[in-house]
Amino acid sequence: MTDQLNKYLFADQLTRAQTVELNSAWQTGLEHQHYPACVRNLLGELAAAAVLLAGNLKLDGSLVLQAQGDGPIALMVVECTSDFKIRATATLREDAVIDEDADLQSLLNTYDNGRFIVVLEPKSGSDLKPYQGIVPLQGKNLAEVLENYMKHSEQLDTKIFLAANGEKANGLLLQRLPGTGGSIEGTDAPEEPSWDRAKQLAETVKNDELLTLPAPELIHRLFWQEDLLQLEPTTLSWHCPCTRERVADMLRMLGREEIETILSEQERIEVACNFCGKPYQFDAVDSAQLFIPSSDQPEAKNTLH
Ligand SMILES: [Zn+2]
Repeated sequence: MTDQLNKYLFADQLTRAQTVELNSAWQTGLEHQHYPACVRNLLGELAAAAVLLAGNLKLDGSLVLQAQGDGPIALMVVECTSDFKIRATATLREDAVIDEDADLQSLLNTYDNGRFIVVLEPKSGSDLKPYQGIVPLQGKNLAEVLENYMKHSEQLDTKIFLAANGEKANGLLLQRLPGTGGSIEGTDAPEEPSWDRAKQLAETVKNDELLTLPAPELIHRLFWQEDLLQLEPTTLSWHCPCTRERVADMLRMLGREEIETILSEQERIEVACNFCGKPYQFDAVDSAQLFIPSSDQPEAKNTLH
């Protein structure tokens, strides 16, 4: 099973294509997160989209895509770092009633106040400032929202296709590149610029092809008549930086009294990471250790203060 970003360049250098396939990375992400199928699929599409957008960036840091909703979904967030580690989460409203086949508009933009936000966050210590772009959630699906965003923010014609289920989150991006074109060494650029042709061909792609065909087959099925240069693929993975130690720090901040009160009512404290849902458990013994001064901890014994 592949978790990969693939990049291709058309022979005249006027169009680029990218495919994203999230398989085990996506399944790992869903391990502790359980959503209605339509929400899960939308989140998968957002995850695939984040990889496609990050694939175009020269940023040392993270790209964060957020869909802020006014409907059953309050928030969807996906983060993709520049080394292509991703994590994704959705927050539903407590009283949310979700139709099985609800679409983007009814899930996130019920009252027309939904917003789509793109954040570029340079690594801490960088001189660069974070960037934030906000557009209304306009479009019949997430791909259209993104296309609108790209058109407005980057002034680049972009076609995006996204599909996700419980096993995969896949996507295809096609982008018109600025310039008058040239020819990649060893290829003959056709006389007609590639963009219109490429766009028409890509529009024939079906949802189940996006979900079932491995990237090379998908690209071949769509663009077999075209001369394409394939670039080095990028491996993708799921990663959330939550750790037991971070949860311990949070519990310490609650204070000993609070923790003891909780433990008088229940056998253990269970905390789930609010991003990936991973559960962390602290029983009475674990909790007591939280409040042992660090000078009494075994590893600190030889430290002079
Ligand atoms: Zn986590």
